[in-house]
Amino acid sequence: MFRALVLEDVGGSVTPSIRELDETTLPAGDVTVAVEYTTVNYKDGLVVNGAGGLVKRYPHVPGIDFAGTVLESRHAAYRAGDKVVLTGWRVGEVQWGGCAQKASVNGDWLVPLPAGLSARQAMAVGTAGLTAMLAVIALEAHGLAAASGELLVTGAAGGVGSVATAILAQRGYQVVASTGRAEAHDYLRQLGASTIVDRSPFSEPAKRPLEAERWAGCVDSVGGNTLARVLAQTKYGCSVAAVGLAGGSKLEHTVIPFLLRGVNLLGIDSVMCPRERRIEAWRRILTDLPLDRLDALSTEVRLEDVPRVAGDILKGQVRGRVVVNVNA
Ligand code: NDP
Repeated sequence: MFRALVLEDVGGSVTPSIRELDETTLPAGDVTVAVEYTTVNYKDGLVVNGAGGLVKRYPHVPGIDFAGTVLESRHAAYRAGDKVVLTGWRVGEVQWGGCAQKASVNGDWLVPLPAGLSARQAMAVGTAGLTAMLAVIALEAHGLAAASGELLVTGAAGGVGSVATAILAQRGYQVVASTGRAEAHDYLRQLGASTIVDRSPFSEPAKRPLEAERWAGCVDSVGGNTLARVLAQTKYGCSVAAVGLAGGSKLEHTVIPFLLRGVNLLGIDSVMCPRERRIEAWRRILTDLPLDRLDALSTEVRLEDVPRVAGDILKGQVRGRVVVNVNA
């Protein structure tokens, strides 16, 4: 038997409860993992609150990422006792996820726990942090360099934004953190932001296709008007990594920044991202994300707390990363 956070559809309303489940209820997979930590990402907020139409079948166990130890394996790459990490592949949406003491998954979706990181630290990074790293890698592949100038991180106090801020600062970039939370300013400075700006001007609709050039690059978790305004303010030949939609999924803009300034809009996906790219991103996390900053941006909760935190994250009220100790 193992403990899990189970979501049920009760008359059209998604209801969470902690249950003891039998191992035979686990979905078919060739690797069974004793989960140690999972996390609460924005997508977990959607799943636990029954939003976004992500879950098609109930009962469901949420948790889009986890880290733990292999219990049993029929996969050639893993043996009992191996430490592993899972992010993406629609686990926690289509498949049962990490909000449980056990998970059963396709071994192709796992990566070895990076040497030098504990399971908790790997989950402090989690899906949001891996995505932030993928965004930085993409920006650098498109010419971003420390001498390029100010780099914007939107939704900076959130999960993706916090990790992106810490990584970019560590790599010597001049990070401008955009946030709606005055109380997060000190926190963002601690992570390495050199300037903090209020997010509200970005959410105003763009009045012109081009504005004064300011940003040498951007990691954008917000989307909507914010992404449109950032594109209009991005410097000649520079790039914006579109990661999220915390402020809206609709992008209303002209193509003018692409045509007149050669601006690049880079799409970042961590869910179906190929394995080699994940391994490379985890390798880069080890060198580019200082562990003291990782500790500063993460807090720990229990499985029982996930429904509350899942509500808070949709309201933009979660700071940094929340790791869930499933055995606490
Ligand atoms: P968080 O909620 O932790 O962070 C989002 C941040 O965006 C908030 O903390 C807040 O930052 C800001 N924000 C929230 N609502 C608004 C709003 N209405 N207008 C402007 N800013 C807002 O979520 P995550 O970091 O986990 O995820 C961020 C986004 O990235 C989500 O949309 C998520 O779905 C997406 N994502 C995409 C992935 C991919 O593979 N492409 C993977 C992981 C996440 P502040 O308070 O500082 O203003």
